[in-house]
Amino acid sequence: MLRVQNLEVVYDDVMLVLRGVDLAVPEGRIVALLGANGAGKTTLLRALSGLLGVHHGTVARGSVTLAGAPIHRLRPAAIVRRGVSQVMEGRRTFAELTVEENLRLGAHTRRRGAADTLARMYELFPVLKQRRGAVAGYLSGGEQQMLAMGRALMSGPAYLLLDEPSLGLAPRMVEQVRDLIVEINRAGTAVLLVEQNAAMALSVAEHGYVLENGRVVLDKPAAELLADDDIREFYLGAH
Ligand code: ATP
Repeated sequence: MLRVQNLEVVYDDVMLVLRGVDLAVPEGRIVALLGANGAGKTTLLRALSGLLGVHHGTVARGSVTLAGAPIHRLRPAAIVRRGVSQVMEGRRTFAELTVEENLRLGAHTRRRGAADTLARMYELFPVLKQRRGAVAGYLSGGEQQMLAMGRALMSGPAYLLLDEPSLGLAPRMVEQVRDLIVEINRAGTAVLLVEQNAAMALSVAEHGYVLENGRVVLDKPAAELLADDDIREFYLGAH
């Protein structure tokens, strides 16, 4: 289980952005993390993947643990090696490198098995196989999202953290990304899905959290969140 307990995060030593967050991603499950812009979702993912330091953030209190062992003081590569891999918001791929080069970079933390995983990625994302020699910068938004997901999966993670994978994608593409999340999860990888698209996230997740101003305000099974009046009004646009 990947677990966040009473986590407080500050930026630049002064700005308290997470104010005592508790969250759990059990092995093999899909968990959704919802919340308005600025609620602290990306900050939470940075804390899980060791990337706070790059952004002048620190864990002021609380912990992130993986199977009971603290990981919040580890460097990003060490966290990837332990099985937690992130796709950052904006699907940062290396624009000048080819699709295949990008995928291979995702395997830099492993000693063996990369060739088999690459073959598996091409099964999961046939479009990446077709475009394996193309420069990543020329891919469509949806293809870049797949490449970013494929690259993160190349490390063979037990936990995949996705930051707004549907952002800016056409509805058909959103559906495809959704199906891929289900498939990745079926193959055994747990997913923490940060989404503005609450309908999409709650349709695949078993459990969901809502973050507001750095605090968890709702922590419920996805089906209950889908039925919650506030969620329906604020996140699903229902009246
Ligand atoms: P969004 O959907 O807009 O990405 P979010 O829920 O992911 O929102 P965060 O990006 O975690 O929220 O931001 C939470 C708060 O922390 C915001 O007020 C933001 O301005 C602030 N923040 C984020 N990164 C930094 C940073 N490097 N330095 C200072 N403040 C930051």
